[in-house]
Amino acid sequence: MDFRDSSQEAAFRQEVRDFIKGELPSELARRESDWGLWAGGAGFFARGRDAVAAWRRKLATRGWVAPAWPKEYGGAGLGIMEQFIFNEEMALARAPLVGGIGVGWAGPTIILFGTEEQKREHLEPILRGDTVWCQGFSEPEAGSDLASLKTRAVRDGDDYLITGQKIWASGAHAADCMILLARTDPDAPKHKGISYFLLDMTSPGIAIRPLVNMLDSHEFNEVFLDNVRVPRRNLLGEENRGWYVAAATLDFERSGVAHAVRHQLIVDKLLEYAREQRVGGQSMLEHNPGLRYELADRYLETQVLRAMSYTVVSIQSRGQVPNIEASVCKLYVSELDQRIAATGMSMLGLYGQLNRDPTWAPLNGKICRMYMHATASTVGGGTSEIQRNIIAMRGLGLPRA
Ligand SMILES: Cc1cc2nc3c(=O)[nH]c(=O)nc-3n(C[C@H](O)[C@H](O)[C@H](O)COP(=O)(O)OP(=O)(O)OC[C@H]3O[C@@H](n4cnc5c(N)ncnc54)[C@H](O)[C@@H]3O)c2cc1C
Repeated sequence: MDFRDSSQEAAFRQEVRDFIKGELPSELARRESDWGLWAGGAGFFARGRDAVAAWRRKLATRGWVAPAWPKEYGGAGLGIMEQFIFNEEMALARAPLVGGIGVGWAGPTIILFGTEEQKREHLEPILRGDTVWCQGFSEPEAGSDLASLKTRAVRDGDDYLITGQKIWASGAHAADCMILLARTDPDAPKHKGISYFLLDMTSPGIAIRPLVNMLDSHEFNEVFLDNVRVPRRNLLGEENRGWYVAAATLDFERSGVAHAVRHQLIVDKLLEYAREQRVGGQSMLEHNPGLRYELADRYLETQVLRAMSYTVVSIQSRGQVPNIEASVCKLYVSELDQRIAATGMSMLGLYGQLNRDPTWAPLNGKICRMYMHATASTVGGGTSEIQRNIIAMRGLGLPRA
């Protein structure tokens, strides 16, 4: 396989580079140089800060918030490969992520399953950043076993009344809309009685309670729904077929392929640090042969991830939704997150525990924050065990455990 860009792709890459060079404010690139990932996701949940919002508008005018979406819905109508190149260049330039759940997986699911009216109503506002989305799938008794969810949606004339509780809803406190799963037929087998809704978060009957994570950061929430009225036109796909719509959402969520470059940048930063730090008259890198091997492993792993991303991209380019491959990518990327953070923490020693101290925290405390965030990466979006089950059953054809 030839990994080099075709001449057309190379020209597009250059166009993106020139655009970023000309348009990305340098202070924004520096501020967001949190090496990507969760710690850099200022544009992920929240309505962007001013500079991020302005950057997003610049992208939106070219259709580059979601380059592969159709032009009629505000995308640039480019191929998946161009979108991948675009994401790589954005990551290399340390440009802030602006997509969030809306661009990442709510929008693509609406493109696949939405009515024309739903597409017109939601897609452009998502791209312009006018609507921020969150995801209400998990419940206190339904995470890995999502199909056990208990939130009920009951028909009432032309509406549904939704009652129940969601949990771990990232960014729900800042969101305008939620993709939500609720049970519409309690008597059907559990996968066959679920429907998928597009919920307006300003609807009466919604209460949000913050959940603060170990970084002392408010990112996810409990969401309580008490007879929340949702018009029937906000049903996505057919009633009781929501499980299959949700499966596509999860495949989009898990196959996020923009990570390889961002991980590579973190490993580069750790290498630079190990070269600069002096231990007993030598650089840390010379002093510690074990660390050399460990960093070499981490670097190789970022390249493995890149190759995996190409597999996902080539499946998407054929118009298919990656499934087992999405799980392979999700599993690998989340565990790599943890390995890179652990390598970083072992390099920084006791000072590595300093998270925000401006004087003493090495690398501005970013590795410490990454380490704490990475703990959750093998849980969010489906745990590693669940990805392994999917790979075992659907990929390898092994029997259900
Ligand atoms: C940072 C973060 C953000 C999140 N954001 C959202 C969000 O925006 N919206 C949303 O809906 N949800 C969100 N979640 C929830 C996430 O999807 C669930 O936490 C996840 O699916 C696991 O479910 P659970 O927490 O109920 O754990 P459980 O399902 O109770 O699992 C507990 C343990 O048992 C293991 N286990 C369970 N079943 C099996 C099995 N069959 N085989 C082997 N092992 C098994 C699991 O792997 C895990 O180790 C988020 C979670 C995190 C950590």
